[in-house]
Amino acid sequence: MIYLDHAATTPVAPEVFEAMAPYLQGEYGNPSSFYGLARRARGAVDEARERIAAYLGCAPRELVFTGCGTEADNLAIKGLAFAHADQGRHIITSAIEHHAVLHTCRSLEKYHGFEVTYLPVDRDGLVAVEQVAEAIRPDTLLVTVMHSNNEVGTIQPISEIGALCMERKVRLHTDAVQSLGKTPLKVDDLNVDMLTIAGHKFYAPKGVGALYMRRGVKLANLLDGGAQEFARRAGTENVAGIVGMAKAVELLETRGVEDNERITRLRDRLITGVLERIPQAQLTGHPTQRICNLASFCFHFIEGEGILLSLDFEDVCVSSGSACTSASLDPSHVLIAMGYPHEVAHGSIRMSLGRHNTEQEIDQVLDLLPPIVERLRSMSPLWADAKRKGEV
Ligand SMILES: *Cc1c(COP(=O)(O)O)cnc(C)c1O
Repeated sequence: MIYLDHAATTPVAPEVFEAMAPYLQGEYGNPSSFYGLARRARGAVDEARERIAAYLGCAPRELVFTGCGTEADNLAIKGLAFAHADQGRHIITSAIEHHAVLHTCRSLEKYHGFEVTYLPVDRDGLVAVEQVAEAIRPDTLLVTVMHSNNEVGTIQPISEIGALCMERKVRLHTDAVQSLGKTPLKVDDLNVDMLTIAGHKFYAPKGVGALYMRRGVKLANLLDGGAQEFARRAGTENVAGIVGMAKAVELLETRGVEDNERITRLRDRLITGVLERIPQAQLTGHPTQRICNLASFCFHFIEGEGILLSLDFEDVCVSSGSACTSASLDPSHVLIAMGYPHEVAHGSIRMSLGRHNTEQEIDQVLDLLPPIVERLRSMSPLWADAKRKGEV
C-alpha cells in the first residue's frame, strides 16, 4: 500500500504507542483522584502539558486538552461568542475554513443570532490582510482564519492578521491542525489568542486535541461538569491520548526538521512529475506559501472520484477534495472560493505525504497516474468535446 493521505490522518508512531501503553494498562488512575496511582496519571498529564506548551511557546496553563481538533475549534469560536455576546455579535472567518470552523460559524448564525463575514480568497487561496481590516466592525468579537488549508495547503499571513487584530482589539483564533509539525508554530510570533491542534494529524492517536488560549481570554464552557482542565473542559482526561500527543511533539522536535526536508523534496518531485507527464493538470494552492507535505491538483475534464477509485484499485490512498466532503457530490468549497469553475473543481485530487513515504513510492504513483488519467479522459464527453473544438 502507498499512503498519501496524511492530511486526513496519520499512523500512530511506534514510540507514541509505547509511551501510551502503560496508561491503558497498569497506570489507569483517574487524574482527579488522590492516591498514588491517580497522582502518577496527573503527573503524566502535567508533564505532557508542559512539553506541548513549550513547543508552542506558551504557558502550560494556557493549554486545554480536548477530545479532537473539531472540539477545540468549537470551544474557541462558540466559547468566545457566548462569553461576549453582550459586547457584540459579529465574527469574521474565511470561505475556505475546515468544516469544524465553517459549520460552527453557520450554527452561530442560524441558532444564536450572530453575524458572520466570510472573507473571500484569491486564486492561490490567500486571505488579504486588508480585507480583514475592512471587515472589522465595532461589534466584531473574533477573527478566525486557518493557519494552513487542509485541501490545498496554502499558508495564511497569520502574524500580520494577528498584529492587525491586536491593534483593533479583536481576538484571533487560528486552526493550525494541518500546520503543526510542518512549520514553526510559536503563538507569540503568530500574534494569536487561540490556536487549535489535533493529535492524529501528527502521528498521535485520533480522539485527542488541544486549544491554546492566551491568558485573559474568556470562553464559555461547551461541556459542563467536573473541574478538569482548570474548569474549562469537563470530562475525565484522555490520559493515554494526551501522553501520546506529547510524545508525538517530542518526535517532531527530534526528527521534524530532517523529515520535512525529505518530504519537501518528495513533494516537489511529485508536483514536477505530475505537471510534466500529464497535460491539462494544474497545481492548486499557493505555489510557494504552502505546507511542505501537500500537493493538490485539478485534472481537467475528469472527476477526482474516478482517479481516487482507480488509485485505490492499485492500493494507493489519496483524497479528492477533503475527506469530510468526499461523501457528497458537491465540489470542494475551497476550490470554488478560489474561483475554480465547478467542472474543474470536480477533478481535484489531494496527495499528502508523511515521514514514511519513499522516492520509489512517488515514482510508482507517477507511473500509475498518467494512464489512469488518459483512460478516464477517453471516456469523458467533456474531453471529447474539447478535442473536437481543438482546445486540447
Ligand atoms: C482534521 C482537521 C480538523 C479536525 O480535527 P479532528 O481531530 O479530526 O476533529 C480541523 N481542522 C483542520 C484544518 C483539519 O485538517
